[in-house]
Amino acid sequence: MKTSLFPTEIPNWIDGQQRPAISCEWFDKLNPADGRLVCRVARSLTKDVHQAVQAAKRAQPSWADTPPVQRGLLLHKIVLGMEARQREIAQTVALETGKSYRDAYAETSGAIALGLFYAGEGQRLYGRTTTSGICDRFAMTIRQPIGVAGLIVPANTPIANLAWKIFPALICGNAVVLKAAEDTPATAWIVGHITHEAGLPAALLNIIQGYGEEAGAPLVEHPDVGVISFTGSTAVGRDIQRVAGERLAKVSLELGGKNPFVVCDDADLENAAKWALLSAFSNAGQRCASGSRIIVFDVVYDQFRDMVVSRAKHLKIGSTDDDDLGPVINEAQLNRMLSAVEGARQKGASILTGGYRLTDLTHRDGFYMAPTMIENVGPHDDISTTELFGPIACLYRVKDFAEALALANDSLYGLTACIHTRNLHRAIQFTQKVQAGVAIVNAGTYGSEPHMPFGGLKQSGNGSREPGTEALDVYSHLKDVYININPHEV
Ligand code: NAD
Repeated sequence: MKTSLFPTEIPNWIDGQQRPAISCEWFDKLNPADGRLVCRVARSLTKDVHQAVQAAKRAQPSWADTPPVQRGLLLHKIVLGMEARQREIAQTVALETGKSYRDAYAETSGAIALGLFYAGEGQRLYGRTTTSGICDRFAMTIRQPIGVAGLIVPANTPIANLAWKIFPALICGNAVVLKAAEDTPATAWIVGHITHEAGLPAALLNIIQGYGEEAGAPLVEHPDVGVISFTGSTAVGRDIQRVAGERLAKVSLELGGKNPFVVCDDADLENAAKWALLSAFSNAGQRCASGSRIIVFDVVYDQFRDMVVSRAKHLKIGSTDDDDLGPVINEAQLNRMLSAVEGARQKGASILTGGYRLTDLTHRDGFYMAPTMIENVGPHDDISTTELFGPIACLYRVKDFAEALALANDSLYGLTACIHTRNLHRAIQFTQKVQAGVAIVNAGTYGSEPHMPFGGLKQSGNGSREPGTEALDVYSHLKDVYININPHEV
């Protein structure tokens, strides 16, 4: 256990202090790469959440009165703290997720870039000035904080997930209560530590550790939490929408995906194969934007399938910088995937490669799934419709563009979509017609930039977009202001 990076027992951050759960209970967090104990984690319950919300509520008004430019300067200090501790953050992310240090470091760079973007937004927290239809009247909008923001995140890209929500929530003048992902508690703890060191006033960022139903649900239910921003599964998101909807709280949902990756007959197959593998297997497939449905034109299907299957067989699996993919986050997740593949096999699917847990000496203590490619599955089979959140992709054969587009859109989800083609007309038609919040030409199904709005259609979200300036709409209210003057009193 590496105790120097973070405490062996991860407490909550409430009101600027580190506190164990009131129940004094802890749960174990294991390293997915070797199954060993990383740390014990505070098992928080409703009372802990209530303390955090009360603290946030007390602290928020003076933060709201702090000019946004000054808020931005403070966020900038946090970003500098993240830069100074980038190695530690990356080591922690790697230890908690089992991904390589290289990938964890790159993820941390992304989180830093995002923090910089929002620090700058303090100087650009624009409203709108416009004309009025009435004489001697001026019309404008201003942004106002919501109050307490309840943030709930998953574990797949932990430092990025935290940055995506904390920075925009704070720049808008809110106080935050964050429910950390139970599988990546230490990354959240380090962020709490850095913000504390940077001088963020106590209680503006409270971090609650614990399980979703025990520590996440009370946050969603709390009447003083004005906005809930949730990233996670569609099933939980639907529940959150319902519960928060009862009290008409604002809700932003970034949910799951079953994203199509289309390979046309005119594609650069080398480039397409490279991106198909990255989309399906990088981060062990634990991406909302992973390319899990690979849709290939009949004419090139056999050739493309052979290319990706033979390459998938040679991917290096492990958690070093030389490896291509690591373990999945926990054993329960691994077992869910294994039974999904088994279910597909029983229904007649062909497992082209993978489909099993790695049990050799190097991998047997970790939660490693062999990269898995499957064919001969129907578009409505469970394996085609259920998000598996692991290194599993299905291949589908289609006649032409129309069939590819129809299959791409034949999904309950609509997060990201990608097409590989050299034909400009096909490419643009796809970006226009595919039912997804993100459409990509000639690369992977994943990858986003701090200033761009990410989010999905259908069951991939509720229409909100984060990050980009669009996230400011999630974390602030717009107020219309009308100023009437009397020119005779000049
Ligand atoms: P999950 O929904 O099980 O958990 C996500 C978070 O919600 C965790 O912190 C968990 O503790 C909490 N939670 C669980 N039940 C809760 C409840 N009843 N009330 C409040 N909080 C609760 O998801 P997961 O398996 O941890 O993460 C994977 C999912 O996240 C996938 O569906 C993936 O597509 C999605 N995801 C989406 C995006 C996006 O931007 N659209 C990004 C990353 C991951």
